[in-house]
Amino acid sequence: MAFECPECGEPTLEIAAKLELPPDSGADEIQLQLLECPDCGFKAGGVYSESRRGARESWTHIGYEMDEDDWHGLRTDFGVCPGPGDKRCSCSAHAGFNVRNAHGHWMMPPGFGRYRSFPLRLGS
Ligand SMILES: [Zn+2]
Ligand SMILES: [Zn+2]
Repeated sequence: MAFECPECGEPTLEIAAKLELPPDSGADEIQLQLLECPDCGFKAGGVYSESRRGARESWTHIGYEMDEDDWHGLRTDFGVCPGPGDKRCSCSAHAGFNVRNAHGHWMMPPGFGRYRSFPLRLGS
C-alpha cells in the first residue's frame, strides 16, 4: 500500500512504521504512522483515525511533513515496541504516544503538528 508523495508526485510514499493506539472519545481506531518516499527521500508522519459510531462510518488520514531529525527520532521511539499492531500493548512507546486530554480525546504528538499537513491519498 503506497500513497501519493506530495514532494515528487509519484505513488511511492510508504508506511515505514506504525503504532496502533486504543480508541478515544471520538474514534474507534487510531493509527500513528511514519511514512517515507524511497524515490525522493520525503519523510512524513501520518495519523489515521476511523469512527464507526452513529449511522455512518467516517475516517481521516492526514500526513504531516517532517524533517529528517524528527522523523528518525520518532522511528527510534516506535522501534522499542514489541507489538506495533497491538493497541493494548503496554510498552513505553505505546504509553508515550497514548496521551489523552481531560475530555478523553487523544493528543497528537507535538512533533506531528509542527509541520504542514496534507491529505494522504492512495496512489494508483
Ligand atoms: Zn517522493
Ligand atoms: Zn507497544
